[in-house]
Amino acid sequence: MKTIKVRLKDRSYNILVGKDLIASCGRRLKGLDIGRDAIVITNNRVAGLFRRPVLRSLKSACLTALFLTVPDSEKAKSIRIVTGLIDRISRYDVGRRIFIIALGGGVVGDVAGFVSATYKRGIPYAQIPTTLLAQVDSAIGGKTAIDLPVAKNMVGAFYQPRLVISDIRALKTLPADQIRSGIAEVIKYGVIKDGVLFEYLEKNAGKIMALDDASLEFIVSRSSAIKAGIVSKDEFDRKDVRAALNFGHTLGHAVETASGYSGYSHGQAVAIGMAIASKISSRLGILPGREAARIISLIERFGLPSSIRKNLDFSDIYNAHQHDKKFAGTNRFVLPSRIGHVRIVEGVPDNVIRKVLKESTSPSN
Ligand code: NAD
Ligand code: MG
Repeated sequence: MKTIKVRLKDRSYNILVGKDLIASCGRRLKGLDIGRDAIVITNNRVAGLFRRPVLRSLKSACLTALFLTVPDSEKAKSIRIVTGLIDRISRYDVGRRIFIIALGGGVVGDVAGFVSATYKRGIPYAQIPTTLLAQVDSAIGGKTAIDLPVAKNMVGAFYQPRLVISDIRALKTLPADQIRSGIAEVIKYGVIKDGVLFEYLEKNAGKIMALDDASLEFIVSRSSAIKAGIVSKDEFDRKDVRAALNFGHTLGHAVETASGYSGYSHGQAVAIGMAIASKISSRLGILPGREAARIISLIERFGLPSSIRKNLDFSDIYNAHQHDKKFAGTNRFVLPSRIGHVRIVEGVPDNVIRKVLKESTSPSN
């Protein structure tokens, strides 16, 4: 098992990464002394897989458990679901010492985190992420949120968990597409911060996709450490430090918008975004062409797309990109300068973006 510390003055916490950690979650949570009565927020699919071992472990540590489920889709991140959860929790919270456990993927993590942040102005919570994306990304860093009809993640709070338990064996039941979605973020970490992780991905794609224990433990712990390090330096996303995590995401977001959120999964859109950003970087003379080619070929090794489908018009993506809420006047890109390093570059000429977008429209698919 690996232990990674997220250092945040009085809010520091550990991320545990290893095999079969769900079996010991009760003892570990008990040790934190954050309460006696666990409220486990999850969904039916995840409950079907992990309710029993979680319950057994909590019980053996003399903790009580109430399981509350939310719908299994992004729709769970809504004010209506939050109201329902808080209503149930407030009725249960009489003469008890409650804390929350988010058991599931990023959707469950975001909504359970938001409830934890807001109920009684904040109660302790722990994350037990069960998707690769949640283990390497959403369970770490304290961003909690729900969606509004106009856009995702519009209402939220920074609220750190007290512990993150990433049991890599929990990923065994995850469909391959969900693994790939998480891998897109892992590739991102390699490019922005960690040449060793990048090389590991190049050499071990087969083992990773076969869900080999040691390989998963390596990529999850390494990715967690990178995100933890970035969050420790920029908890509230106010400096340019956390901005590096947006590599591939500004353009990825535009791809998601232009395809009406149905054409590509988040991971696929980020993969395309990373490929395009790498090409832009190389076109601007910031990233050597062979390094851009390495990034693109790694994306493809994992079965992720590196170009835009022909039926998606590149000018729609360009327009969506121009409307991105993160822009204040000029455009802003996270561009790799070599594997393991990125720069924030403002004012990339329009003609370069257009040209690369046009070239990135795949003729074959
Ligand atoms: P998800 O939570 O929808 O999970 C994907 C699917 O996998 C779901 O159907 C889920 O029920 C299922 N599942 C979960 N664990 C499983 C397991 N072990 N075996 C089999 N199936 C399992 O999606 P996600 O990709 O984990 O998370 C996406 C969400 O995360 C989005 O809402 C996004 O906005 C959010 N997010 C938040 C942050 C953050 O910093 N807070 C960062 C990135 C993404
Ligand atoms: Mg992402």
